[in-house]
Amino acid sequence: MRFASLGSGSAGNALIAEASATTILLDCGFGQREAVSRLARLGVEPGRISGILITHEHDDHLGAAFKLSARFRIPVHITHGTLAAAGVVPQAAIVNVIDSHTAFSIGDLEVHPYPVPHDAREPVQFVISDGARRLGVLTDAGCGTAHIENMLTRCDGLVLECNHDLDLLLNGDYPRSLKQRIAGRLGHLDNATSSGILARLDQSRLQHVIAAHLSEKNNRPELARVALAAAMNCSTEWVGVAEQSAGFGWRQLM
Ligand SMILES: [Zn+2]
Ligand SMILES: [Zn+2]
Repeated sequence: MRFASLGSGSAGNALIAEASATTILLDCGFGQREAVSRLARLGVEPGRISGILITHEHDDHLGAAFKLSARFRIPVHITHGTLAAAGVVPQAAIVNVIDSHTAFSIGDLEVHPYPVPHDAREPVQFVISDGARRLGVLTDAGCGTAHIENMLTRCDGLVLECNHDLDLLLNGDYPRSLKQRIAGRLGHLDNATSSGILARLDQSRLQHVIAAHLSEKNNRPELARVALAAAMNCSTEWVGVAEQSAGFGWRQLM
């Protein structure tokens, strides 16, 4: 299987995972036209997408998901709480309500949701597998949990939130309440916490590790790379970074 990012950060997030004839979009935090043009950059026709997974209702993840669903007849897989918090859903959208602990299949891919602590109604993240390889995704979580680590251990690829460097956040010019929200247990993972989670995982199968959801104000790609590399005892060049504008190109899980 292979995966790529349309873009990552507070202005919009979307990942794509693909195995044989199945293509899945994980979040769609962009406007419709923007999402379609970013998909084209990766060579993906929207009509080829078999399902859209939604992690939570924040607009940098939900974006045009329902509009794409309605226009291209793509099912949106979403928890009950996220759906309830998502506001008005276009009538033509196709909605499949999922349980936050129960795995399900979309074509050749198995999707395993898992709950995460974040300030949303019923947020989840996902592990996606083609039966042989597993891609683990974790963004928008205020802290690690034993269950998160259980889900992400022994993955072949990982996309891990490195939202901020705690010192940059605390010494930056965000209002106090926003700093507390971001750094809180229902906020976002900082580089050190993400590194701590990674250090506790079984890394024996890892082929790709990508830092994602970086704050443009409160982080720098190099800091995220150093933090994740330290958890793996590897060189910083080995750690990928998902960018807000460019995301990252296709990565193959062999
Ligand atoms: Zn987000
Ligand atoms: Zn969020």
